[in-house]
Amino acid sequence: MAGILQIVRKPASIVTEIRNMILRLPRPPREIAVPLETLAHTLAARESVYVGCSHSMCCRSAKLDIQALTGRLEPGHRSMHQDLVGLFVCSHCKAAGRDRRPVFLHS
Ligand SMILES: [Zn+2]
Repeated sequence: MAGILQIVRKPASIVTEIRNMILRLPRPPREIAVPLETLAHTLAARESVYVGCSHSMCCRSAKLDIQALTGRLEPGHRSMHQDLVGLFVCSHCKAAGRDRRPVFLHS
């Protein structure tokens, strides 16, 4: 199964790990998550954060592996919505030739 989300501007190893965490949800929640300030804080709080595709023909979501992100980025990397959404693109939409749409974080 092709991964639905991949990280951009980061090593391919993150892509593989995120692909392994794919969860397919029938319709992702639309509320915007308010993660804790840094990846270390989010990890310590055991927060579950999902990243979802906003394309109406897709709407897939994947659970972020916060521990993997913390290892690949840095524990102090900010983890607010605006700090993370730019790192991801929906590879399912990309493979389908759809326009790139913003992703969003949700819990
Ligand atoms: Zn998509």
